[in-house]
Amino acid sequence: MSNNILVINCGSSSLKFSLVNSQTGNQPITGLAERLGDSDAILTIKENGQKQVIDIANGSHSQALDALLKQLDEKQQLSTIKAVGHRVVHGGENFTSSIIIDDKVLSAIESCNHLAPLHNPANLIGIKECQKLLNTVPHVAVFDTAFHQTMPKSAYLYPIPYELYEQHGVRRYGFHGTSHRYVSAALAETLNKPLEELNLVSAHLGNGCSATAILKGKSVDTTMGLTPLEGLVMGTRSGDVDPSLHHFLCTQADMTIDEVNNLLNKKSGLLGLSGISNDMRTLDEASQKGDQRATLAINVFCYRLAKQIAALSVSLGRLDGLIFTGGIGENAASIREKVLNQLSVLGFQVDSTHNASAGKDQQGLITSSGSTPAYVVSTDEEWMIAKDTDALVA
Ligand code: ADP
Repeated sequence: MSNNILVINCGSSSLKFSLVNSQTGNQPITGLAERLGDSDAILTIKENGQKQVIDIANGSHSQALDALLKQLDEKQQLSTIKAVGHRVVHGGENFTSSIIIDDKVLSAIESCNHLAPLHNPANLIGIKECQKLLNTVPHVAVFDTAFHQTMPKSAYLYPIPYELYEQHGVRRYGFHGTSHRYVSAALAETLNKPLEELNLVSAHLGNGCSATAILKGKSVDTTMGLTPLEGLVMGTRSGDVDPSLHHFLCTQADMTIDEVNNLLNKKSGLLGLSGISNDMRTLDEASQKGDQRATLAINVFCYRLAKQIAALSVSLGRLDGLIFTGGIGENAASIREKVLNQLSVLGFQVDSTHNASAGKDQQGLITSSGSTPAYVVSTDEEWMIAKDTDALVA
């Protein structure tokens, strides 16, 4: 029996996929259908370093999936698919772990739509269309929020009237759970230590950024909240701001509530501060050439990240390690160095040589001996989804 799992991540106008060997993590075929519904919709399939682009003009999610499955069939891979793993952004309090999808699960996911109105409905489209086209294999839902369901009330409640939690589910949920879970388990394996003996903070730094306190393998606090806007500075998201900012901007800058929401989600963070880009690579280059605003954006990003890591470590009692992951965490040595220098209060001392050479291909320790250890660990959410899917259908 093959170990191949088709991993699907369905957005409102895109569909990311990967064929993953759940035992080895090998991903022979990956790709993306994008601009779905538009006249320039395309399906890109990557295999052995080769890229194939297929025109699916005006194609829907269903047509993109259909085109993908035809290609997999031609490549004699369709019959190797053992199950499908779907990334689902929000499981609310309904899901504490991954689960095989049936009608009850579909309804429970749907009941979380109001918590992630941009993501969950799109995830559901992906699941339903995929179930129709691949109806002989089981489908599994893997939630971004599930890992954080172990947070205690003291970490997940906002200090607002309790009825809002009871009636509307207003609380902190946390996201990026699949990544935080993957890197913490991967580090434990590398260190050859049981995860249950480690207290870690993991920092997932990509376009979206979040950090999580992981006590003996369980999430006990995280920086994202009711939505992925809370917490760290991100590419275009502000992270934490004064909760009165909405009111201030509506009354003083004549903005509507939707405009403020758009500003904080799409025009803030690294982009808003620098005025140049949401991309850390671009800012790094601009900063090196003397761009003051790029430097400022990087400094705010690093300072706030360090502050949040220190805050998260409060919930751990003892900090056995800090993990950097995601595009920035894995690749931006200068950011890691700045953050670690800011965190000397927690006993971090960067090893500049190890830090400079660390990256996706060279993971591991980036601090000197005697320091609280920090590591670069490459994340692999697709493999985590495939592992969960395989374990459930086994
Ligand atoms: P996503 O959250 O979309 O998966 P990624 O995890 O790929 O994003 O991270 C994207 C971020 O990683 C971007 O800000 C990008 O500039 C940054 N990044 C990638 N490579 C480097 C690098 N070599 N140096 C600095 N930043 C990098």
